[in-house]
Amino acid sequence: MNLAAENTCIQIESQWGAKNYASLPIVLERARCAEVWDTLGNRYLDFMGAYSAANLGHCHPRITSALINQALRLDVVSRAFYSDRLGLFLQKACKLLGQDLALPMNTGAEAVETALKVSRKWGYEVKGVEQNKAEIICCSNNFHGRTIGVISMSTSDQARQGYGPYLPGFKCIPFNDTAELERAITKNTVAFLVEPIQGEAGIIVPDADYLEKCARICRENNVLLVVDEIQTGLGRTGRLLESENAKADVTIIGKSLGGGVVPVSLVLSRKGILDVFKPGDHGSTFGGYPIAAAVASETLSIIEDEELCEKARQSGEYLIQKLQAIANETIKEVRGRGLMIGVEVNTQNGSAEALVQKLLRGGILCKNVNHAVIRLAPPLAISRTHIEEFLNVFESAVQ
Ligand SMILES: *Cc1c(COP(=O)(O)O)cnc(C)c1O
Repeated sequence: MNLAAENTCIQIESQWGAKNYASLPIVLERARCAEVWDTLGNRYLDFMGAYSAANLGHCHPRITSALINQALRLDVVSRAFYSDRLGLFLQKACKLLGQDLALPMNTGAEAVETALKVSRKWGYEVKGVEQNKAEIICCSNNFHGRTIGVISMSTSDQARQGYGPYLPGFKCIPFNDTAELERAITKNTVAFLVEPIQGEAGIIVPDADYLEKCARICRENNVLLVVDEIQTGLGRTGRLLESENAKADVTIIGKSLGGGVVPVSLVLSRKGILDVFKPGDHGSTFGGYPIAAAVASETLSIIEDEELCEKARQSGEYLIQKLQAIANETIKEVRGRGLMIGVEVNTQNGSAEALVQKLLRGGILCKNVNHAVIRLAPPLAISRTHIEEFLNVFESAVQ
């Protein structure tokens, strides 16, 4: 394709698509692992990772095979019947992530909605909260998706503006503040929903023992600890679950679970929680359909077989240390865990958007999460060569 044809792609998408995204003006047409090519033949390294949906790297051959083989065998059946795929997938996910039961949905936001619903139902049926009084505690600057229920918890003006009336029953407290959590709990509190590391807020890493303390407080007060691991989970932070030491009551995963090819999410819990749902109480037409089950099952196997948690931990430590060494007065802070990294720009000397543009011109794909912070989330198995290539571009971009 030439430049005119590429501009046509952008023009058509802008003309016919709703404008709810401000995409950078490059048109991608193929990818392999960490490398992505645009329609002009320019090659980039993907340090954006589709918001952590592409943890395995693009077009992983085992994912492609799982997808194609399943598509040739059985596609969608709905949950009106059993399939020979779903049970084995749920069993594998539960065993790997240390839970008893799992409920499959498609997107992250749907899984969060499911967790809110199960928390309320558990509150009424098990904890004994008075009907319609259930309260769920969330954190300021959270990001849990885009549905009406979920944005009712948001503290972002842009996420909320124009969508009222909002869903009642939420209480917002500061992130990384256990004293506020203790204070916010009442007899009607059914759950505390939290991200182990706040991604969209700018890669905000809490104290090392924060989640364990939250778990203790929740346990003492008969409140469910619900952890949104949609972005942090499945190896991104160097662990299978960033909350693994806290042993949450409910864990939500999504994004990378689909191997980069299908939207699939899971809500996982101990017995006595998810089993408040009885047939007909909740569902999703595509939730857990055979293709999602086959692909997600393969994703979990790949994470283990390729030791992706260990790789993300090691590469992340190396990358953060090198970035900190390169950082000059234009960079305020480099932070993160594993390969979930935030680079905070000193906004007196420039903006995150400007740095993103410079990196793009150097052949690096990434995106700022706000005006100050760039998120780096390359594939978990990114090679040392590609990391060095990135560091070279980054070093000249901040000069
Ligand atoms: C992306 C994300 C979601 C929403 O997932 P979708 O698949 O976009 O609905 C929820 N929570 C967190 C922490 C996320 O990063």
